[in-house]
Amino acid sequence: MAAPSAAQRVIIENCAIATVDANDTEYASGHIVVADNKIESIGAGKATEGLENVVRRIDGTGHLVTPGLINTHHHFYQWITRGLATDHNLFNWLVALYPTWSRIDESMVRVAAQGSLAMMARGGVTTAMDHHYVFPKGSGDLSGAIIGAARDMGVRFTLARGSMDRSEKDGGLPPDFAVETTEGALIATEETVNKHHDASFDAMTQVAVAPCSPFSISTELLREGAALGRRLGVRMHTHGSETVEEEKFCHELFGMGPTDYFESTGFLGEDVWMAHCVHMNDSDIEAFARTKTGVAHCPSSNARLAAGIARVPDMLKAGVPVGLGVDGTASNESGELHTELRNALLINRLGAHREAALDARQALRLGTFGGAQVLGRADSIGSLEPGKLADFVLWKIDGLGHSSIADPVTAIVFGAAAPVTASFVNGKQIVENNRLLFADEEAIARDARAEAQRLARITAQA
Ligand SMILES: [Zn+2]
Repeated sequence: MAAPSAAQRVIIENCAIATVDANDTEYASGHIVVADNKIESIGAGKATEGLENVVRRIDGTGHLVTPGLINTHHHFYQWITRGLATDHNLFNWLVALYPTWSRIDESMVRVAAQGSLAMMARGGVTTAMDHHYVFPKGSGDLSGAIIGAARDMGVRFTLARGSMDRSEKDGGLPPDFAVETTEGALIATEETVNKHHDASFDAMTQVAVAPCSPFSISTELLREGAALGRRLGVRMHTHGSETVEEEKFCHELFGMGPTDYFESTGFLGEDVWMAHCVHMNDSDIEAFARTKTGVAHCPSSNARLAAGIARVPDMLKAGVPVGLGVDGTASNESGELHTELRNALLINRLGAHREAALDARQALRLGTFGGAQVLGRADSIGSLEPGKLADFVLWKIDGLGHSSIADPVTAIVFGAAAPVTASFVNGKQIVENNRLLFADEEAIARDARAEAQRLARITAQA
């Protein structure tokens, strides 16, 4: 019988390191030892001499190493509907785009997922999520296409299987032809969890139950969705408190604000995270803190749709877990997450708290450990600590954009987007010098243009 093979080690040395652990431990010059897919050791100075099975040694001079960025809210399919309805608020923007979105098919969704993932991954995202909630009849295996795109690129991934069942005829926003039945949505969601969700420590694919938003789903779907998520032991996700119009909608239809409505249906809890949470009063924030419900803060999208400024400093102070989200690229055309670190910091300084709002390290924490918390994976990702999964990024900070900024974390948060020299997921390198190792960017760009044009054509002919 062959002896079990020993762990293969990769050593990264001579780099600044921001671990984002509980004490915000940092090293001006340190090392990380990766053994297979986990971090074995991390510390100041060089790695211990004489380690066995070292297959690669990386000189990190001129770099800051951080945990990989974690995206907590997105809609990949929107990659092929970017740059439309550019001067609309949320409700008008949705009504303008629903007819286009409801004509997507599997081929379009696959290419859009590749585009969304590629843009994030080459900018330092190691864990992505996609909240997909448009499932036109006969459109194929959309969930399979999205999950396959993430797997091929090597990105850790959560699919939030969304759904809509409240259309115009029921007082909702989407057109009647764009929604599923309540029962159909629940059955399909359960099938997706059973087929794709991996609960293990180093899972590359997880699935969450994710009815879309109060104005596109029935109360029954929200309530049954929460029950389904808890029965299956997976997380739940939705949009909430995004705009004043949504707040008004909830008061008119349900006689209460969005947070009270979610709580009344069981859709708050430590197994729930919610996108936006812009219009939250003190008691809403208290409810999130009490139930440990997470928040996906999407500053660029909130600005693009003139939704408002989420009270992130108050949420953090109250103990609410907060991560960052790109949101769909029809409301954040850049599709990048690293810029959200800076935008979270800047936008919150325009809010009620001014200069005391957030600092660079808090912004980095939102984009890393905060994301891991809201995705329910704080034990395995989000910080660089022995025993955690080897998901990390080498940011180049000795070039034109950053060399004159003394503090490395300030450099990558306040400065221009830092070049990604290398990005590792699960111990495997997926980006080298800002290029994806397992995807062809030019091919994706070409295919995305063709699919965007095909979708526009189909919509125009309908
Ligand atoms: Zn969204």
